[in-house]
Amino acid sequence: MAVEQLTRSAEAEWGNWRWQQRSAIRTTEELLEVFPGLAGDRLEAIDRHTQTMRFQVTRHFLGLVEQTPEGAPRPDDPLWRQVMPADPEEAAPSSYSYDGTENWELPSEMVTPIAQHKYDDRVIVRAANVCHAYCQFCYEALRTLEKESDKPAFNLHHWDATLGYLLKHPEIQEVILSGGEPLMQSDEQLGRLLGDLRALPRPLAIRIHTRALAFNPFRITEDLCATLAEHGVTAVGLHATHVHELGPDFVAAAQRLQRAVPVLFANIPLLRGVNDSAAAIHELSMKLYMNGVARGYLYHFMPHSPGSERFRTNVSAGVEIIRALKRRVSNLAVPEFVLPHHTGKYTMPLLAPDEQPPQRATSASGEEVLRFRNWQDETIEYPDPALTG
Ligand code: SF4
Repeated sequence: MAVEQLTRSAEAEWGNWRWQQRSAIRTTEELLEVFPGLAGDRLEAIDRHTQTMRFQVTRHFLGLVEQTPEGAPRPDDPLWRQVMPADPEEAAPSSYSYDGTENWELPSEMVTPIAQHKYDDRVIVRAANVCHAYCQFCYEALRTLEKESDKPAFNLHHWDATLGYLLKHPEIQEVILSGGEPLMQSDEQLGRLLGDLRALPRPLAIRIHTRALAFNPFRITEDLCATLAEHGVTAVGLHATHVHELGPDFVAAAQRLQRAVPVLFANIPLLRGVNDSAAAIHELSMKLYMNGVARGYLYHFMPHSPGSERFRTNVSAGVEIIRALKRRVSNLAVPEFVLPHHTGKYTMPLLAPDEQPPQRATSASGEEVLRFRNWQDETIEYPDPALTG
């Protein structure tokens, strides 16, 4: 499409989620329409990357990226950094480099080709292997980013097998539609899946995980919300990374969801060079909270996702961030810091790297106390006699 035609079309259809999807940027030629000042060596790097990995970004998301006076994305822009493919030739291998193995979906947990039973009472359904746009840090990279992924895609045969598993396992109380991006399914298909879950002979909590509000907030249409409300979807988990994503379209989409779904919460991946500071997480968490989105997890980096190593920060950075926010920021906004490990998530205790866990001690007056450091870095003695008998 000629640039002039494209501009007219964009103005008319910007808020149409299908148009955003159709006209997403997938090639370096298209990228140059948005960022005419992008340097040739960066374009070549992207071309090299996309020989094996996916690259796709909606125009909506790129519209939130700050540009240099030359018309290139600012290299340190927190949104651009998430979607910009790394040059495979720049990546220095380390012990954390992607080693080709699965790090989350253990084969023993895949009870059908699309359903993962990791935790006792809930099952995650991989409802799509595709997304509105691709995050280059994706924790599901083997499913989403790899062009030659060997992960089974959603189909109705696998779905029927999943319903059969749910029928035979009454201990399962919650089904999570995740992906990829489950909202890549049509409203009609989602309605069928939700209807099937509601037809099971016991009540279930139904949760949907999505990144649509950042990449294509127009996907949250009134029709979609009516479908979610009709089938009593319990919760929607938004994935957000930086406050720059939370423009008016994101907020309006969240408000539409709030009218349809009782619980709206946010999960945040901790990413070096994107949001690895207390100020960035504070700003993001508070803006989410002030818009009625409750806290969820702050995820530490998931090792061994291909191409994601540049986003890795260390565990101490996450601990320091949460310690800086605890008690200083509303507890309804501060996320829970977890390490995703193939055995499951682990909530990190908020001990500073050089800090002792709480100690039993005897105070100057001879009392048995628990001694710990409080949020203001003071040493506190809390009377706590040991229980005997
Ligand atoms: S939208 Fe979610 S599943 Fe898709 S690439 Fe991003 S993090 Fe991965």
